[in-house]
Amino acid sequence: MTSITAGISDKYELVVGLEVHAQLSTLSKIFSSDSAAFGGGPNEHISAISLGHPGTLPRLNKKAVEYAVKMGLACNCTINLRNTFARKNYFYADLPKGYQITQDHMPICLGGSVLVRLTDGSTKNIAIHHIHLEEDAGKSMHDQHHADSLIDLNRAGVPLIEIVTEPDMRSAEEAGQFLTEIRKLVRYLDVCDGNMEEGSLRCDANISVRLKGATAYGNRCEVKNLNSIRNVQRAIEHEFERQINVIEAGGHIDQNTLNFNADTGETSVLRSKEMANDYRYFPEPDLTPLALTKEYVNTIQSAMPVLPNALYDKYTDQLGLSEYDAGVITADKDVALYFEALIANTENSKAAANWLMGSVKSYLNDSNTSITDFKLKPETLAGLIKLVDSGKVNNTVASQKLFPELVKNSDKTAAGLAAELNLLITSDNNDVSRFIQDAIAKYPDKVIEYQKGKKGVLGLFMGEIMKSSKGKIDPQKTNQLLIKELESK
Ligand code: ADP
Ligand code: MG
Repeated sequence: MTSITAGISDKYELVVGLEVHAQLSTLSKIFSSDSAAFGGGPNEHISAISLGHPGTLPRLNKKAVEYAVKMGLACNCTINLRNTFARKNYFYADLPKGYQITQDHMPICLGGSVLVRLTDGSTKNIAIHHIHLEEDAGKSMHDQHHADSLIDLNRAGVPLIEIVTEPDMRSAEEAGQFLTEIRKLVRYLDVCDGNMEEGSLRCDANISVRLKGATAYGNRCEVKNLNSIRNVQRAIEHEFERQINVIEAGGHIDQNTLNFNADTGETSVLRSKEMANDYRYFPEPDLTPLALTKEYVNTIQSAMPVLPNALYDKYTDQLGLSEYDAGVITADKDVALYFEALIANTENSKAAANWLMGSVKSYLNDSNTSITDFKLKPETLAGLIKLVDSGKVNNTVASQKLFPELVKNSDKTAAGLAAELNLLITSDNNDVSRFIQDAIAKYPDKVIEYQKGKKGVLGLFMGEIMKSSKGKIDPQKTNQLLIKELESK
């Protein structure tokens, strides 16, 4: 494809609305007691209900309802106290019943919004149209047998929520940030593992373009089954260019469903509007409307875990951390929980953030482990911070010597191990002055330079003292003593 010049694409505005499917991490399926676990041998997690045998009846999984309400509350939605299920009829080999139970006119959550943060420092609220509950279909596999397609119905009936946004996003970055936020939320809430590669979180992107200033939306295309945030962004960028090219060439955008090829970065038509399904939705006759009470919703609301945005605000407003630090710490729920435990044990939140994002993160990277497997308890790390703050161990010694030893001996305290390894700063002024004398004796010419006004040589003396004392001195105090010594010469 020929790429368009900036001048032309500048005339256009991108418009994106996302439909995000999240597999709920319940133990059993949404309408039966079959296991909802990922994996298992083909067709092991099935029963007459997932096979769609006549005469079977669905029974709604309470946990799935609770998870949908949690996500709705986290997205500032209104919980629809009376919501209903509908049948969406279509035939496909991985849907033996011939219909999917979903929600149509009366979904469980209405409205709402999700705040996203953009790299230019601005924030934006992306409006949610609704969130509905539905069942997943099975899986057709076309590459496992030379002639036949194989069907695995383990996934048939696994609970899903579908989060449908308004066409509110105006860039691939906004779409990527929205998905990042949704993935964070489902993980903080523990309602879905958020794994896009395994398909627990899937996204369809609706994309259109219009001339800047236009009030009506252009025709949209829907790109199906994007399996990473990066690919969602690539598909959006590709469609933006493609649609502008079509329009600039005098053509017109057909409302098609598209596939995205991750190898080429291009989209192709999956089905055109003429071939679009008519799902003939009708109310699901085998399920009564779902009636929730205000008390039920309040109970869930009062048990909500702390969410990333609230933590972000707390870290930036109350603890004085930078937006960058707050963003990195809240990006991962387990890192945030560790940090929460850490600051419960130390007042020095800035040092806590530095340790977590510095030494701890490097250690986890180097040892290829995650924070949940990290042996060092937050209390112990807080002890190390305290040791540095009280001037008993200097920062370099703490991070280079004490920290790695502490990780290996995670049952010991920082203070105990520092004493054991002889890393404590000497509080004896005689000791410090011996190191100072030695350094001065070693570089008599530098002493003269200092006296002639070249204050920069202080660094050299301090380096020498650090080396000979193995870092076991209080740098500030030593610096003062050193100056006094040099000036009295
Ligand atoms: P349908 O009922 O055909 O599925 P919806 O109106 O429910 O269509 O919209 C589905 C998704 O498409 C929503 O996420 C919505 O924000 C998005 N969408 C609708 N119109 C446009 C458009 N012109 N450009 C981009 N996205 C759009
Ligand atoms: Mg739709």
